[in-house]
Amino acid sequence: MRTPLIVGNWKMHGLRAEARALAAAVCAGVQGLGGREVAVAPPFTALTTVREVLLDSPVALAAQNMHWEERGAFTGEVSPLMLQEVGCRFVILGHSERRQYFGESDAMVKQKVHAALAHDLVPIVCVGETLNEREAGQTLEVVSGQVRRALLELDPPAIRRVVVAYEPVWAIGTGRVATPQQAQEVHGWIRKLLRETVGEVAAEVRILYGGSVKPDNIDELMKEPDIDGALVGGASLDAQAFVRIARFLPANDLE
Ligand code: PEP
Repeated sequence: MRTPLIVGNWKMHGLRAEARALAAAVCAGVQGLGGREVAVAPPFTALTTVREVLLDSPVALAAQNMHWEERGAFTGEVSPLMLQEVGCRFVILGHSERRQYFGESDAMVKQKVHAALAHDLVPIVCVGETLNEREAGQTLEVVSGQVRRALLELDPPAIRRVVVAYEPVWAIGTGRVATPQQAQEVHGWIRKLLRETVGEVAAEVRILYGGSVKPDNIDELMKEPDIDGALVGGASLDAQAFVRIARFLPANDLE
């Protein structure tokens, strides 16, 4: 009932010519791939370029961040209307790099989630604990706090459109991936928390795993019952690696 979703977060990589080539290679590589959704999140400056490449392909466009207001005196920010205009379907919100380097709080993430939904953008809401928090046994407490503060005021029709990305901070860009069991434990916990507060609609919410996802670990991760896809950083800059991740196994619908 949950269509798997694989999203490439290109971060601050990709001049337009590079972005065009990468997007074209991803489109070619996932052609004919059914039973899952694939999206790429280029930097803002490459969104329109990548959009041209993605037209008529099943690959969707995502943005990496967004302000919650439609317009105004917010120098350097990009609004939901602007993302809509360039054809974004998804927007990544509350990435740990935004939280860590740019001071994004759960309250800001919550406003962004509401704004995204109001503008027909699918928010991909990132949550995850640091290494210190994990070692102190605080993982579930930290992640539930982030989920509660960002999401739990949403009503069931809204929450079913949200995507959650569990990204342990210690696994992002480090090559240190969570084991499928570690990831499943947190994913299962997030779903339980959602079920307790918004009810059965929790079964429809996609929960992605992010943190050093590579071609050689995606298949094992995707076997877990509550892992519904991946948010991929580093490996999404390599078309071949990203396409292999999007073509995760087991699958009976590959061409
Ligand atoms: C990310 O930044 O969302 C991420 C998961 O990065 P990486 O795959 O490089 O760990």
